[in-house]
Amino acid sequence: LIQLYIPLNFLGVLYREIRQALTDIERMFGLMGTHREVADAPDAQPLARGAADVRFDHVGFAYDPARKILHDVDFAIPAGHTVAVVGHSGSGKSTLARLLFRFYDVQGGAVRINGQDIRQLTQDSLRAAIGIVPQDTVLFNDTLFYNIQYGRPDASRDEVEAAARAAQLESFIERLPDGWETRVGERGLKLSGGEKQRVAIARTLLKNPDILIFDEATSALDSQTEKAIQAQLDAAARGRTTLVIAHRLSTVMNADEIIVLDQGHIVERGHHTDLLARGGAYARMWQLQQQEEATAAAEA
Ligand code: ADP
Ligand code: MG
Repeated sequence: LIQLYIPLNFLGVLYREIRQALTDIERMFGLMGTHREVADAPDAQPLARGAADVRFDHVGFAYDPARKILHDVDFAIPAGHTVAVVGHSGSGKSTLARLLFRFYDVQGGAVRINGQDIRQLTQDSLRAAIGIVPQDTVLFNDTLFYNIQYGRPDASRDEVEAAARAAQLESFIERLPDGWETRVGERGLKLSGGEKQRVAIARTLLKNPDILIFDEATSALDSQTEKAIQAQLDAAARGRTTLVIAHRLSTVMNADEIIVLDQGHIVERGHHTDLLARGGAYARMWQLQQQEEATAAAEA
């Protein structure tokens, strides 16, 4: 990323726009001010678009050599499937997303797409193939149209509108006095958490990535809004290779595989029903969350 910023400094307005465009990703990855360089290999190849098999192949990783974060993490997301990763805060879930995006290189094993080590791919092609819906979406101080189109700046008006429709935003936008030209962000109309996540989903649909990452995409929402957004996330994931990082387990019940991460180790894996029957870490997390929800419902 550092490489990108320096030349862009000379480009004034363009710099500002691109800098803003990177904000979501940076915020989600917690990368502000901590850029580390990952360079393209001299013979790097572009990733071919289309069905993508993602594989974490015995991955080991540490930000700081003194403290290992991931230990021999090994799992695959077959093309078009959904794998969910759950675990306590700090267990290394978002680190998996950062490694797939190649903000950092692994120290052991490899991250592969269709068998190819991502260190052999161009970063541009890798990042173009991945879409992210983060926990907290950043809106720019600009129009709703701009905020959605930014998912793919060369998209046509029709394409932007279709993405908004698919994200269930269109009727909301059309009810606003200024419609698509409504200004949002800090200085404009304040959108609710659910509306902001719909903007994020519309952006991602417009980008049309082969690989999707939801990093606690619904954890900032109340449970009713979460249910409404969940249906759109499920629709966006259809046909794509999807990594779901979740805090609330109700959102991962339908995943093809659930991985339970604890201090960087995979401690359990399987389908929701298998994991419940096992009576281990996942089952305990599930019971705890059921109790919390029951308490919240009783208080409401
Ligand atoms: P999760 O998403 O499961 O909450 P993360 O993957 O964000 O966990 O973080 C895993 C561990 O790595 C945490 O202990 C966190 O403090 C640490 N960590 C995250 N980012 C960095 C970083 N840039 N530098 C050093 N340590 C980090
Ligand atoms: Mg995280």
